[in-house]
Amino acid sequence: MKTIIEKPLLAVSGIDRLRMGIDGKGVRTLVVTAGCPLRCKYCLNPHSWNGRAFLGSFSAEQLYDRVKIDNLYFLTTNGGITFGGGEPLMQPDFIHNFCRKYAMWSVNIETSLNCPWEYVEKIAEDIDEWYIDIKDMNSEIYRAYTGSDNRAVTENLQRLIKLVPPERICIRVPLIKGFNGESDVEDSVRRLRELGFVRFDRFEYKA
Ligand code: SF4
Repeated sequence: MKTIIEKPLLAVSGIDRLRMGIDGKGVRTLVVTAGCPLRCKYCLNPHSWNGRAFLGSFSAEQLYDRVKIDNLYFLTTNGGITFGGGEPLMQPDFIHNFCRKYAMWSVNIETSLNCPWEYVEKIAEDIDEWYIDIKDMNSEIYRAYTGSDNRAVTENLQRLIKLVPPERICIRVPLIKGFNGESDVEDSVRRLRELGFVRFDRFEYKA
């Protein structure tokens, strides 16, 4: 079993303020974390794959200082922070500590869920809404598109649904031109429904 490396700082490659209707309720700030284990063919952030923190590395207090300008918007709209990436689940200790320290804000996550289960478990109770991009449930399609195995994704989905109410989990099921088709998307949704998931976001990746 892999151990979680203590990381007091969050490697950040971007911050995007005043988002609405994209990654959760209310007015939100997206914190784009650096580093990702996948290599998706249509990735929009390949510059951050290696974990290089273009914006810098932040302590919880430094990140709070950076995003608190929108505190009133967050509180009046039930909004808050969304951690995306890159893969934010590669830095679970930071997210856990941040959520405990600044519990007045809603915190969401956008993730591929392709990581060790203990990373997911660490923040399972801290996150208000999960946005999980599963790419495709078919392991061959997944490997062709991401260069990685999806066993951890499937296992983490099975465990997460036992910890978190399904209404708080949105599964993104993309149509990926050149890699899957409508029938593959249908098959993924069917398999996810069998696992207990009820919220789906179907859309098309643009190459
Ligand atoms: S999971 Fe996201 S950040 Fe990582 S390679 Fe795929 S698209 Fe890029």
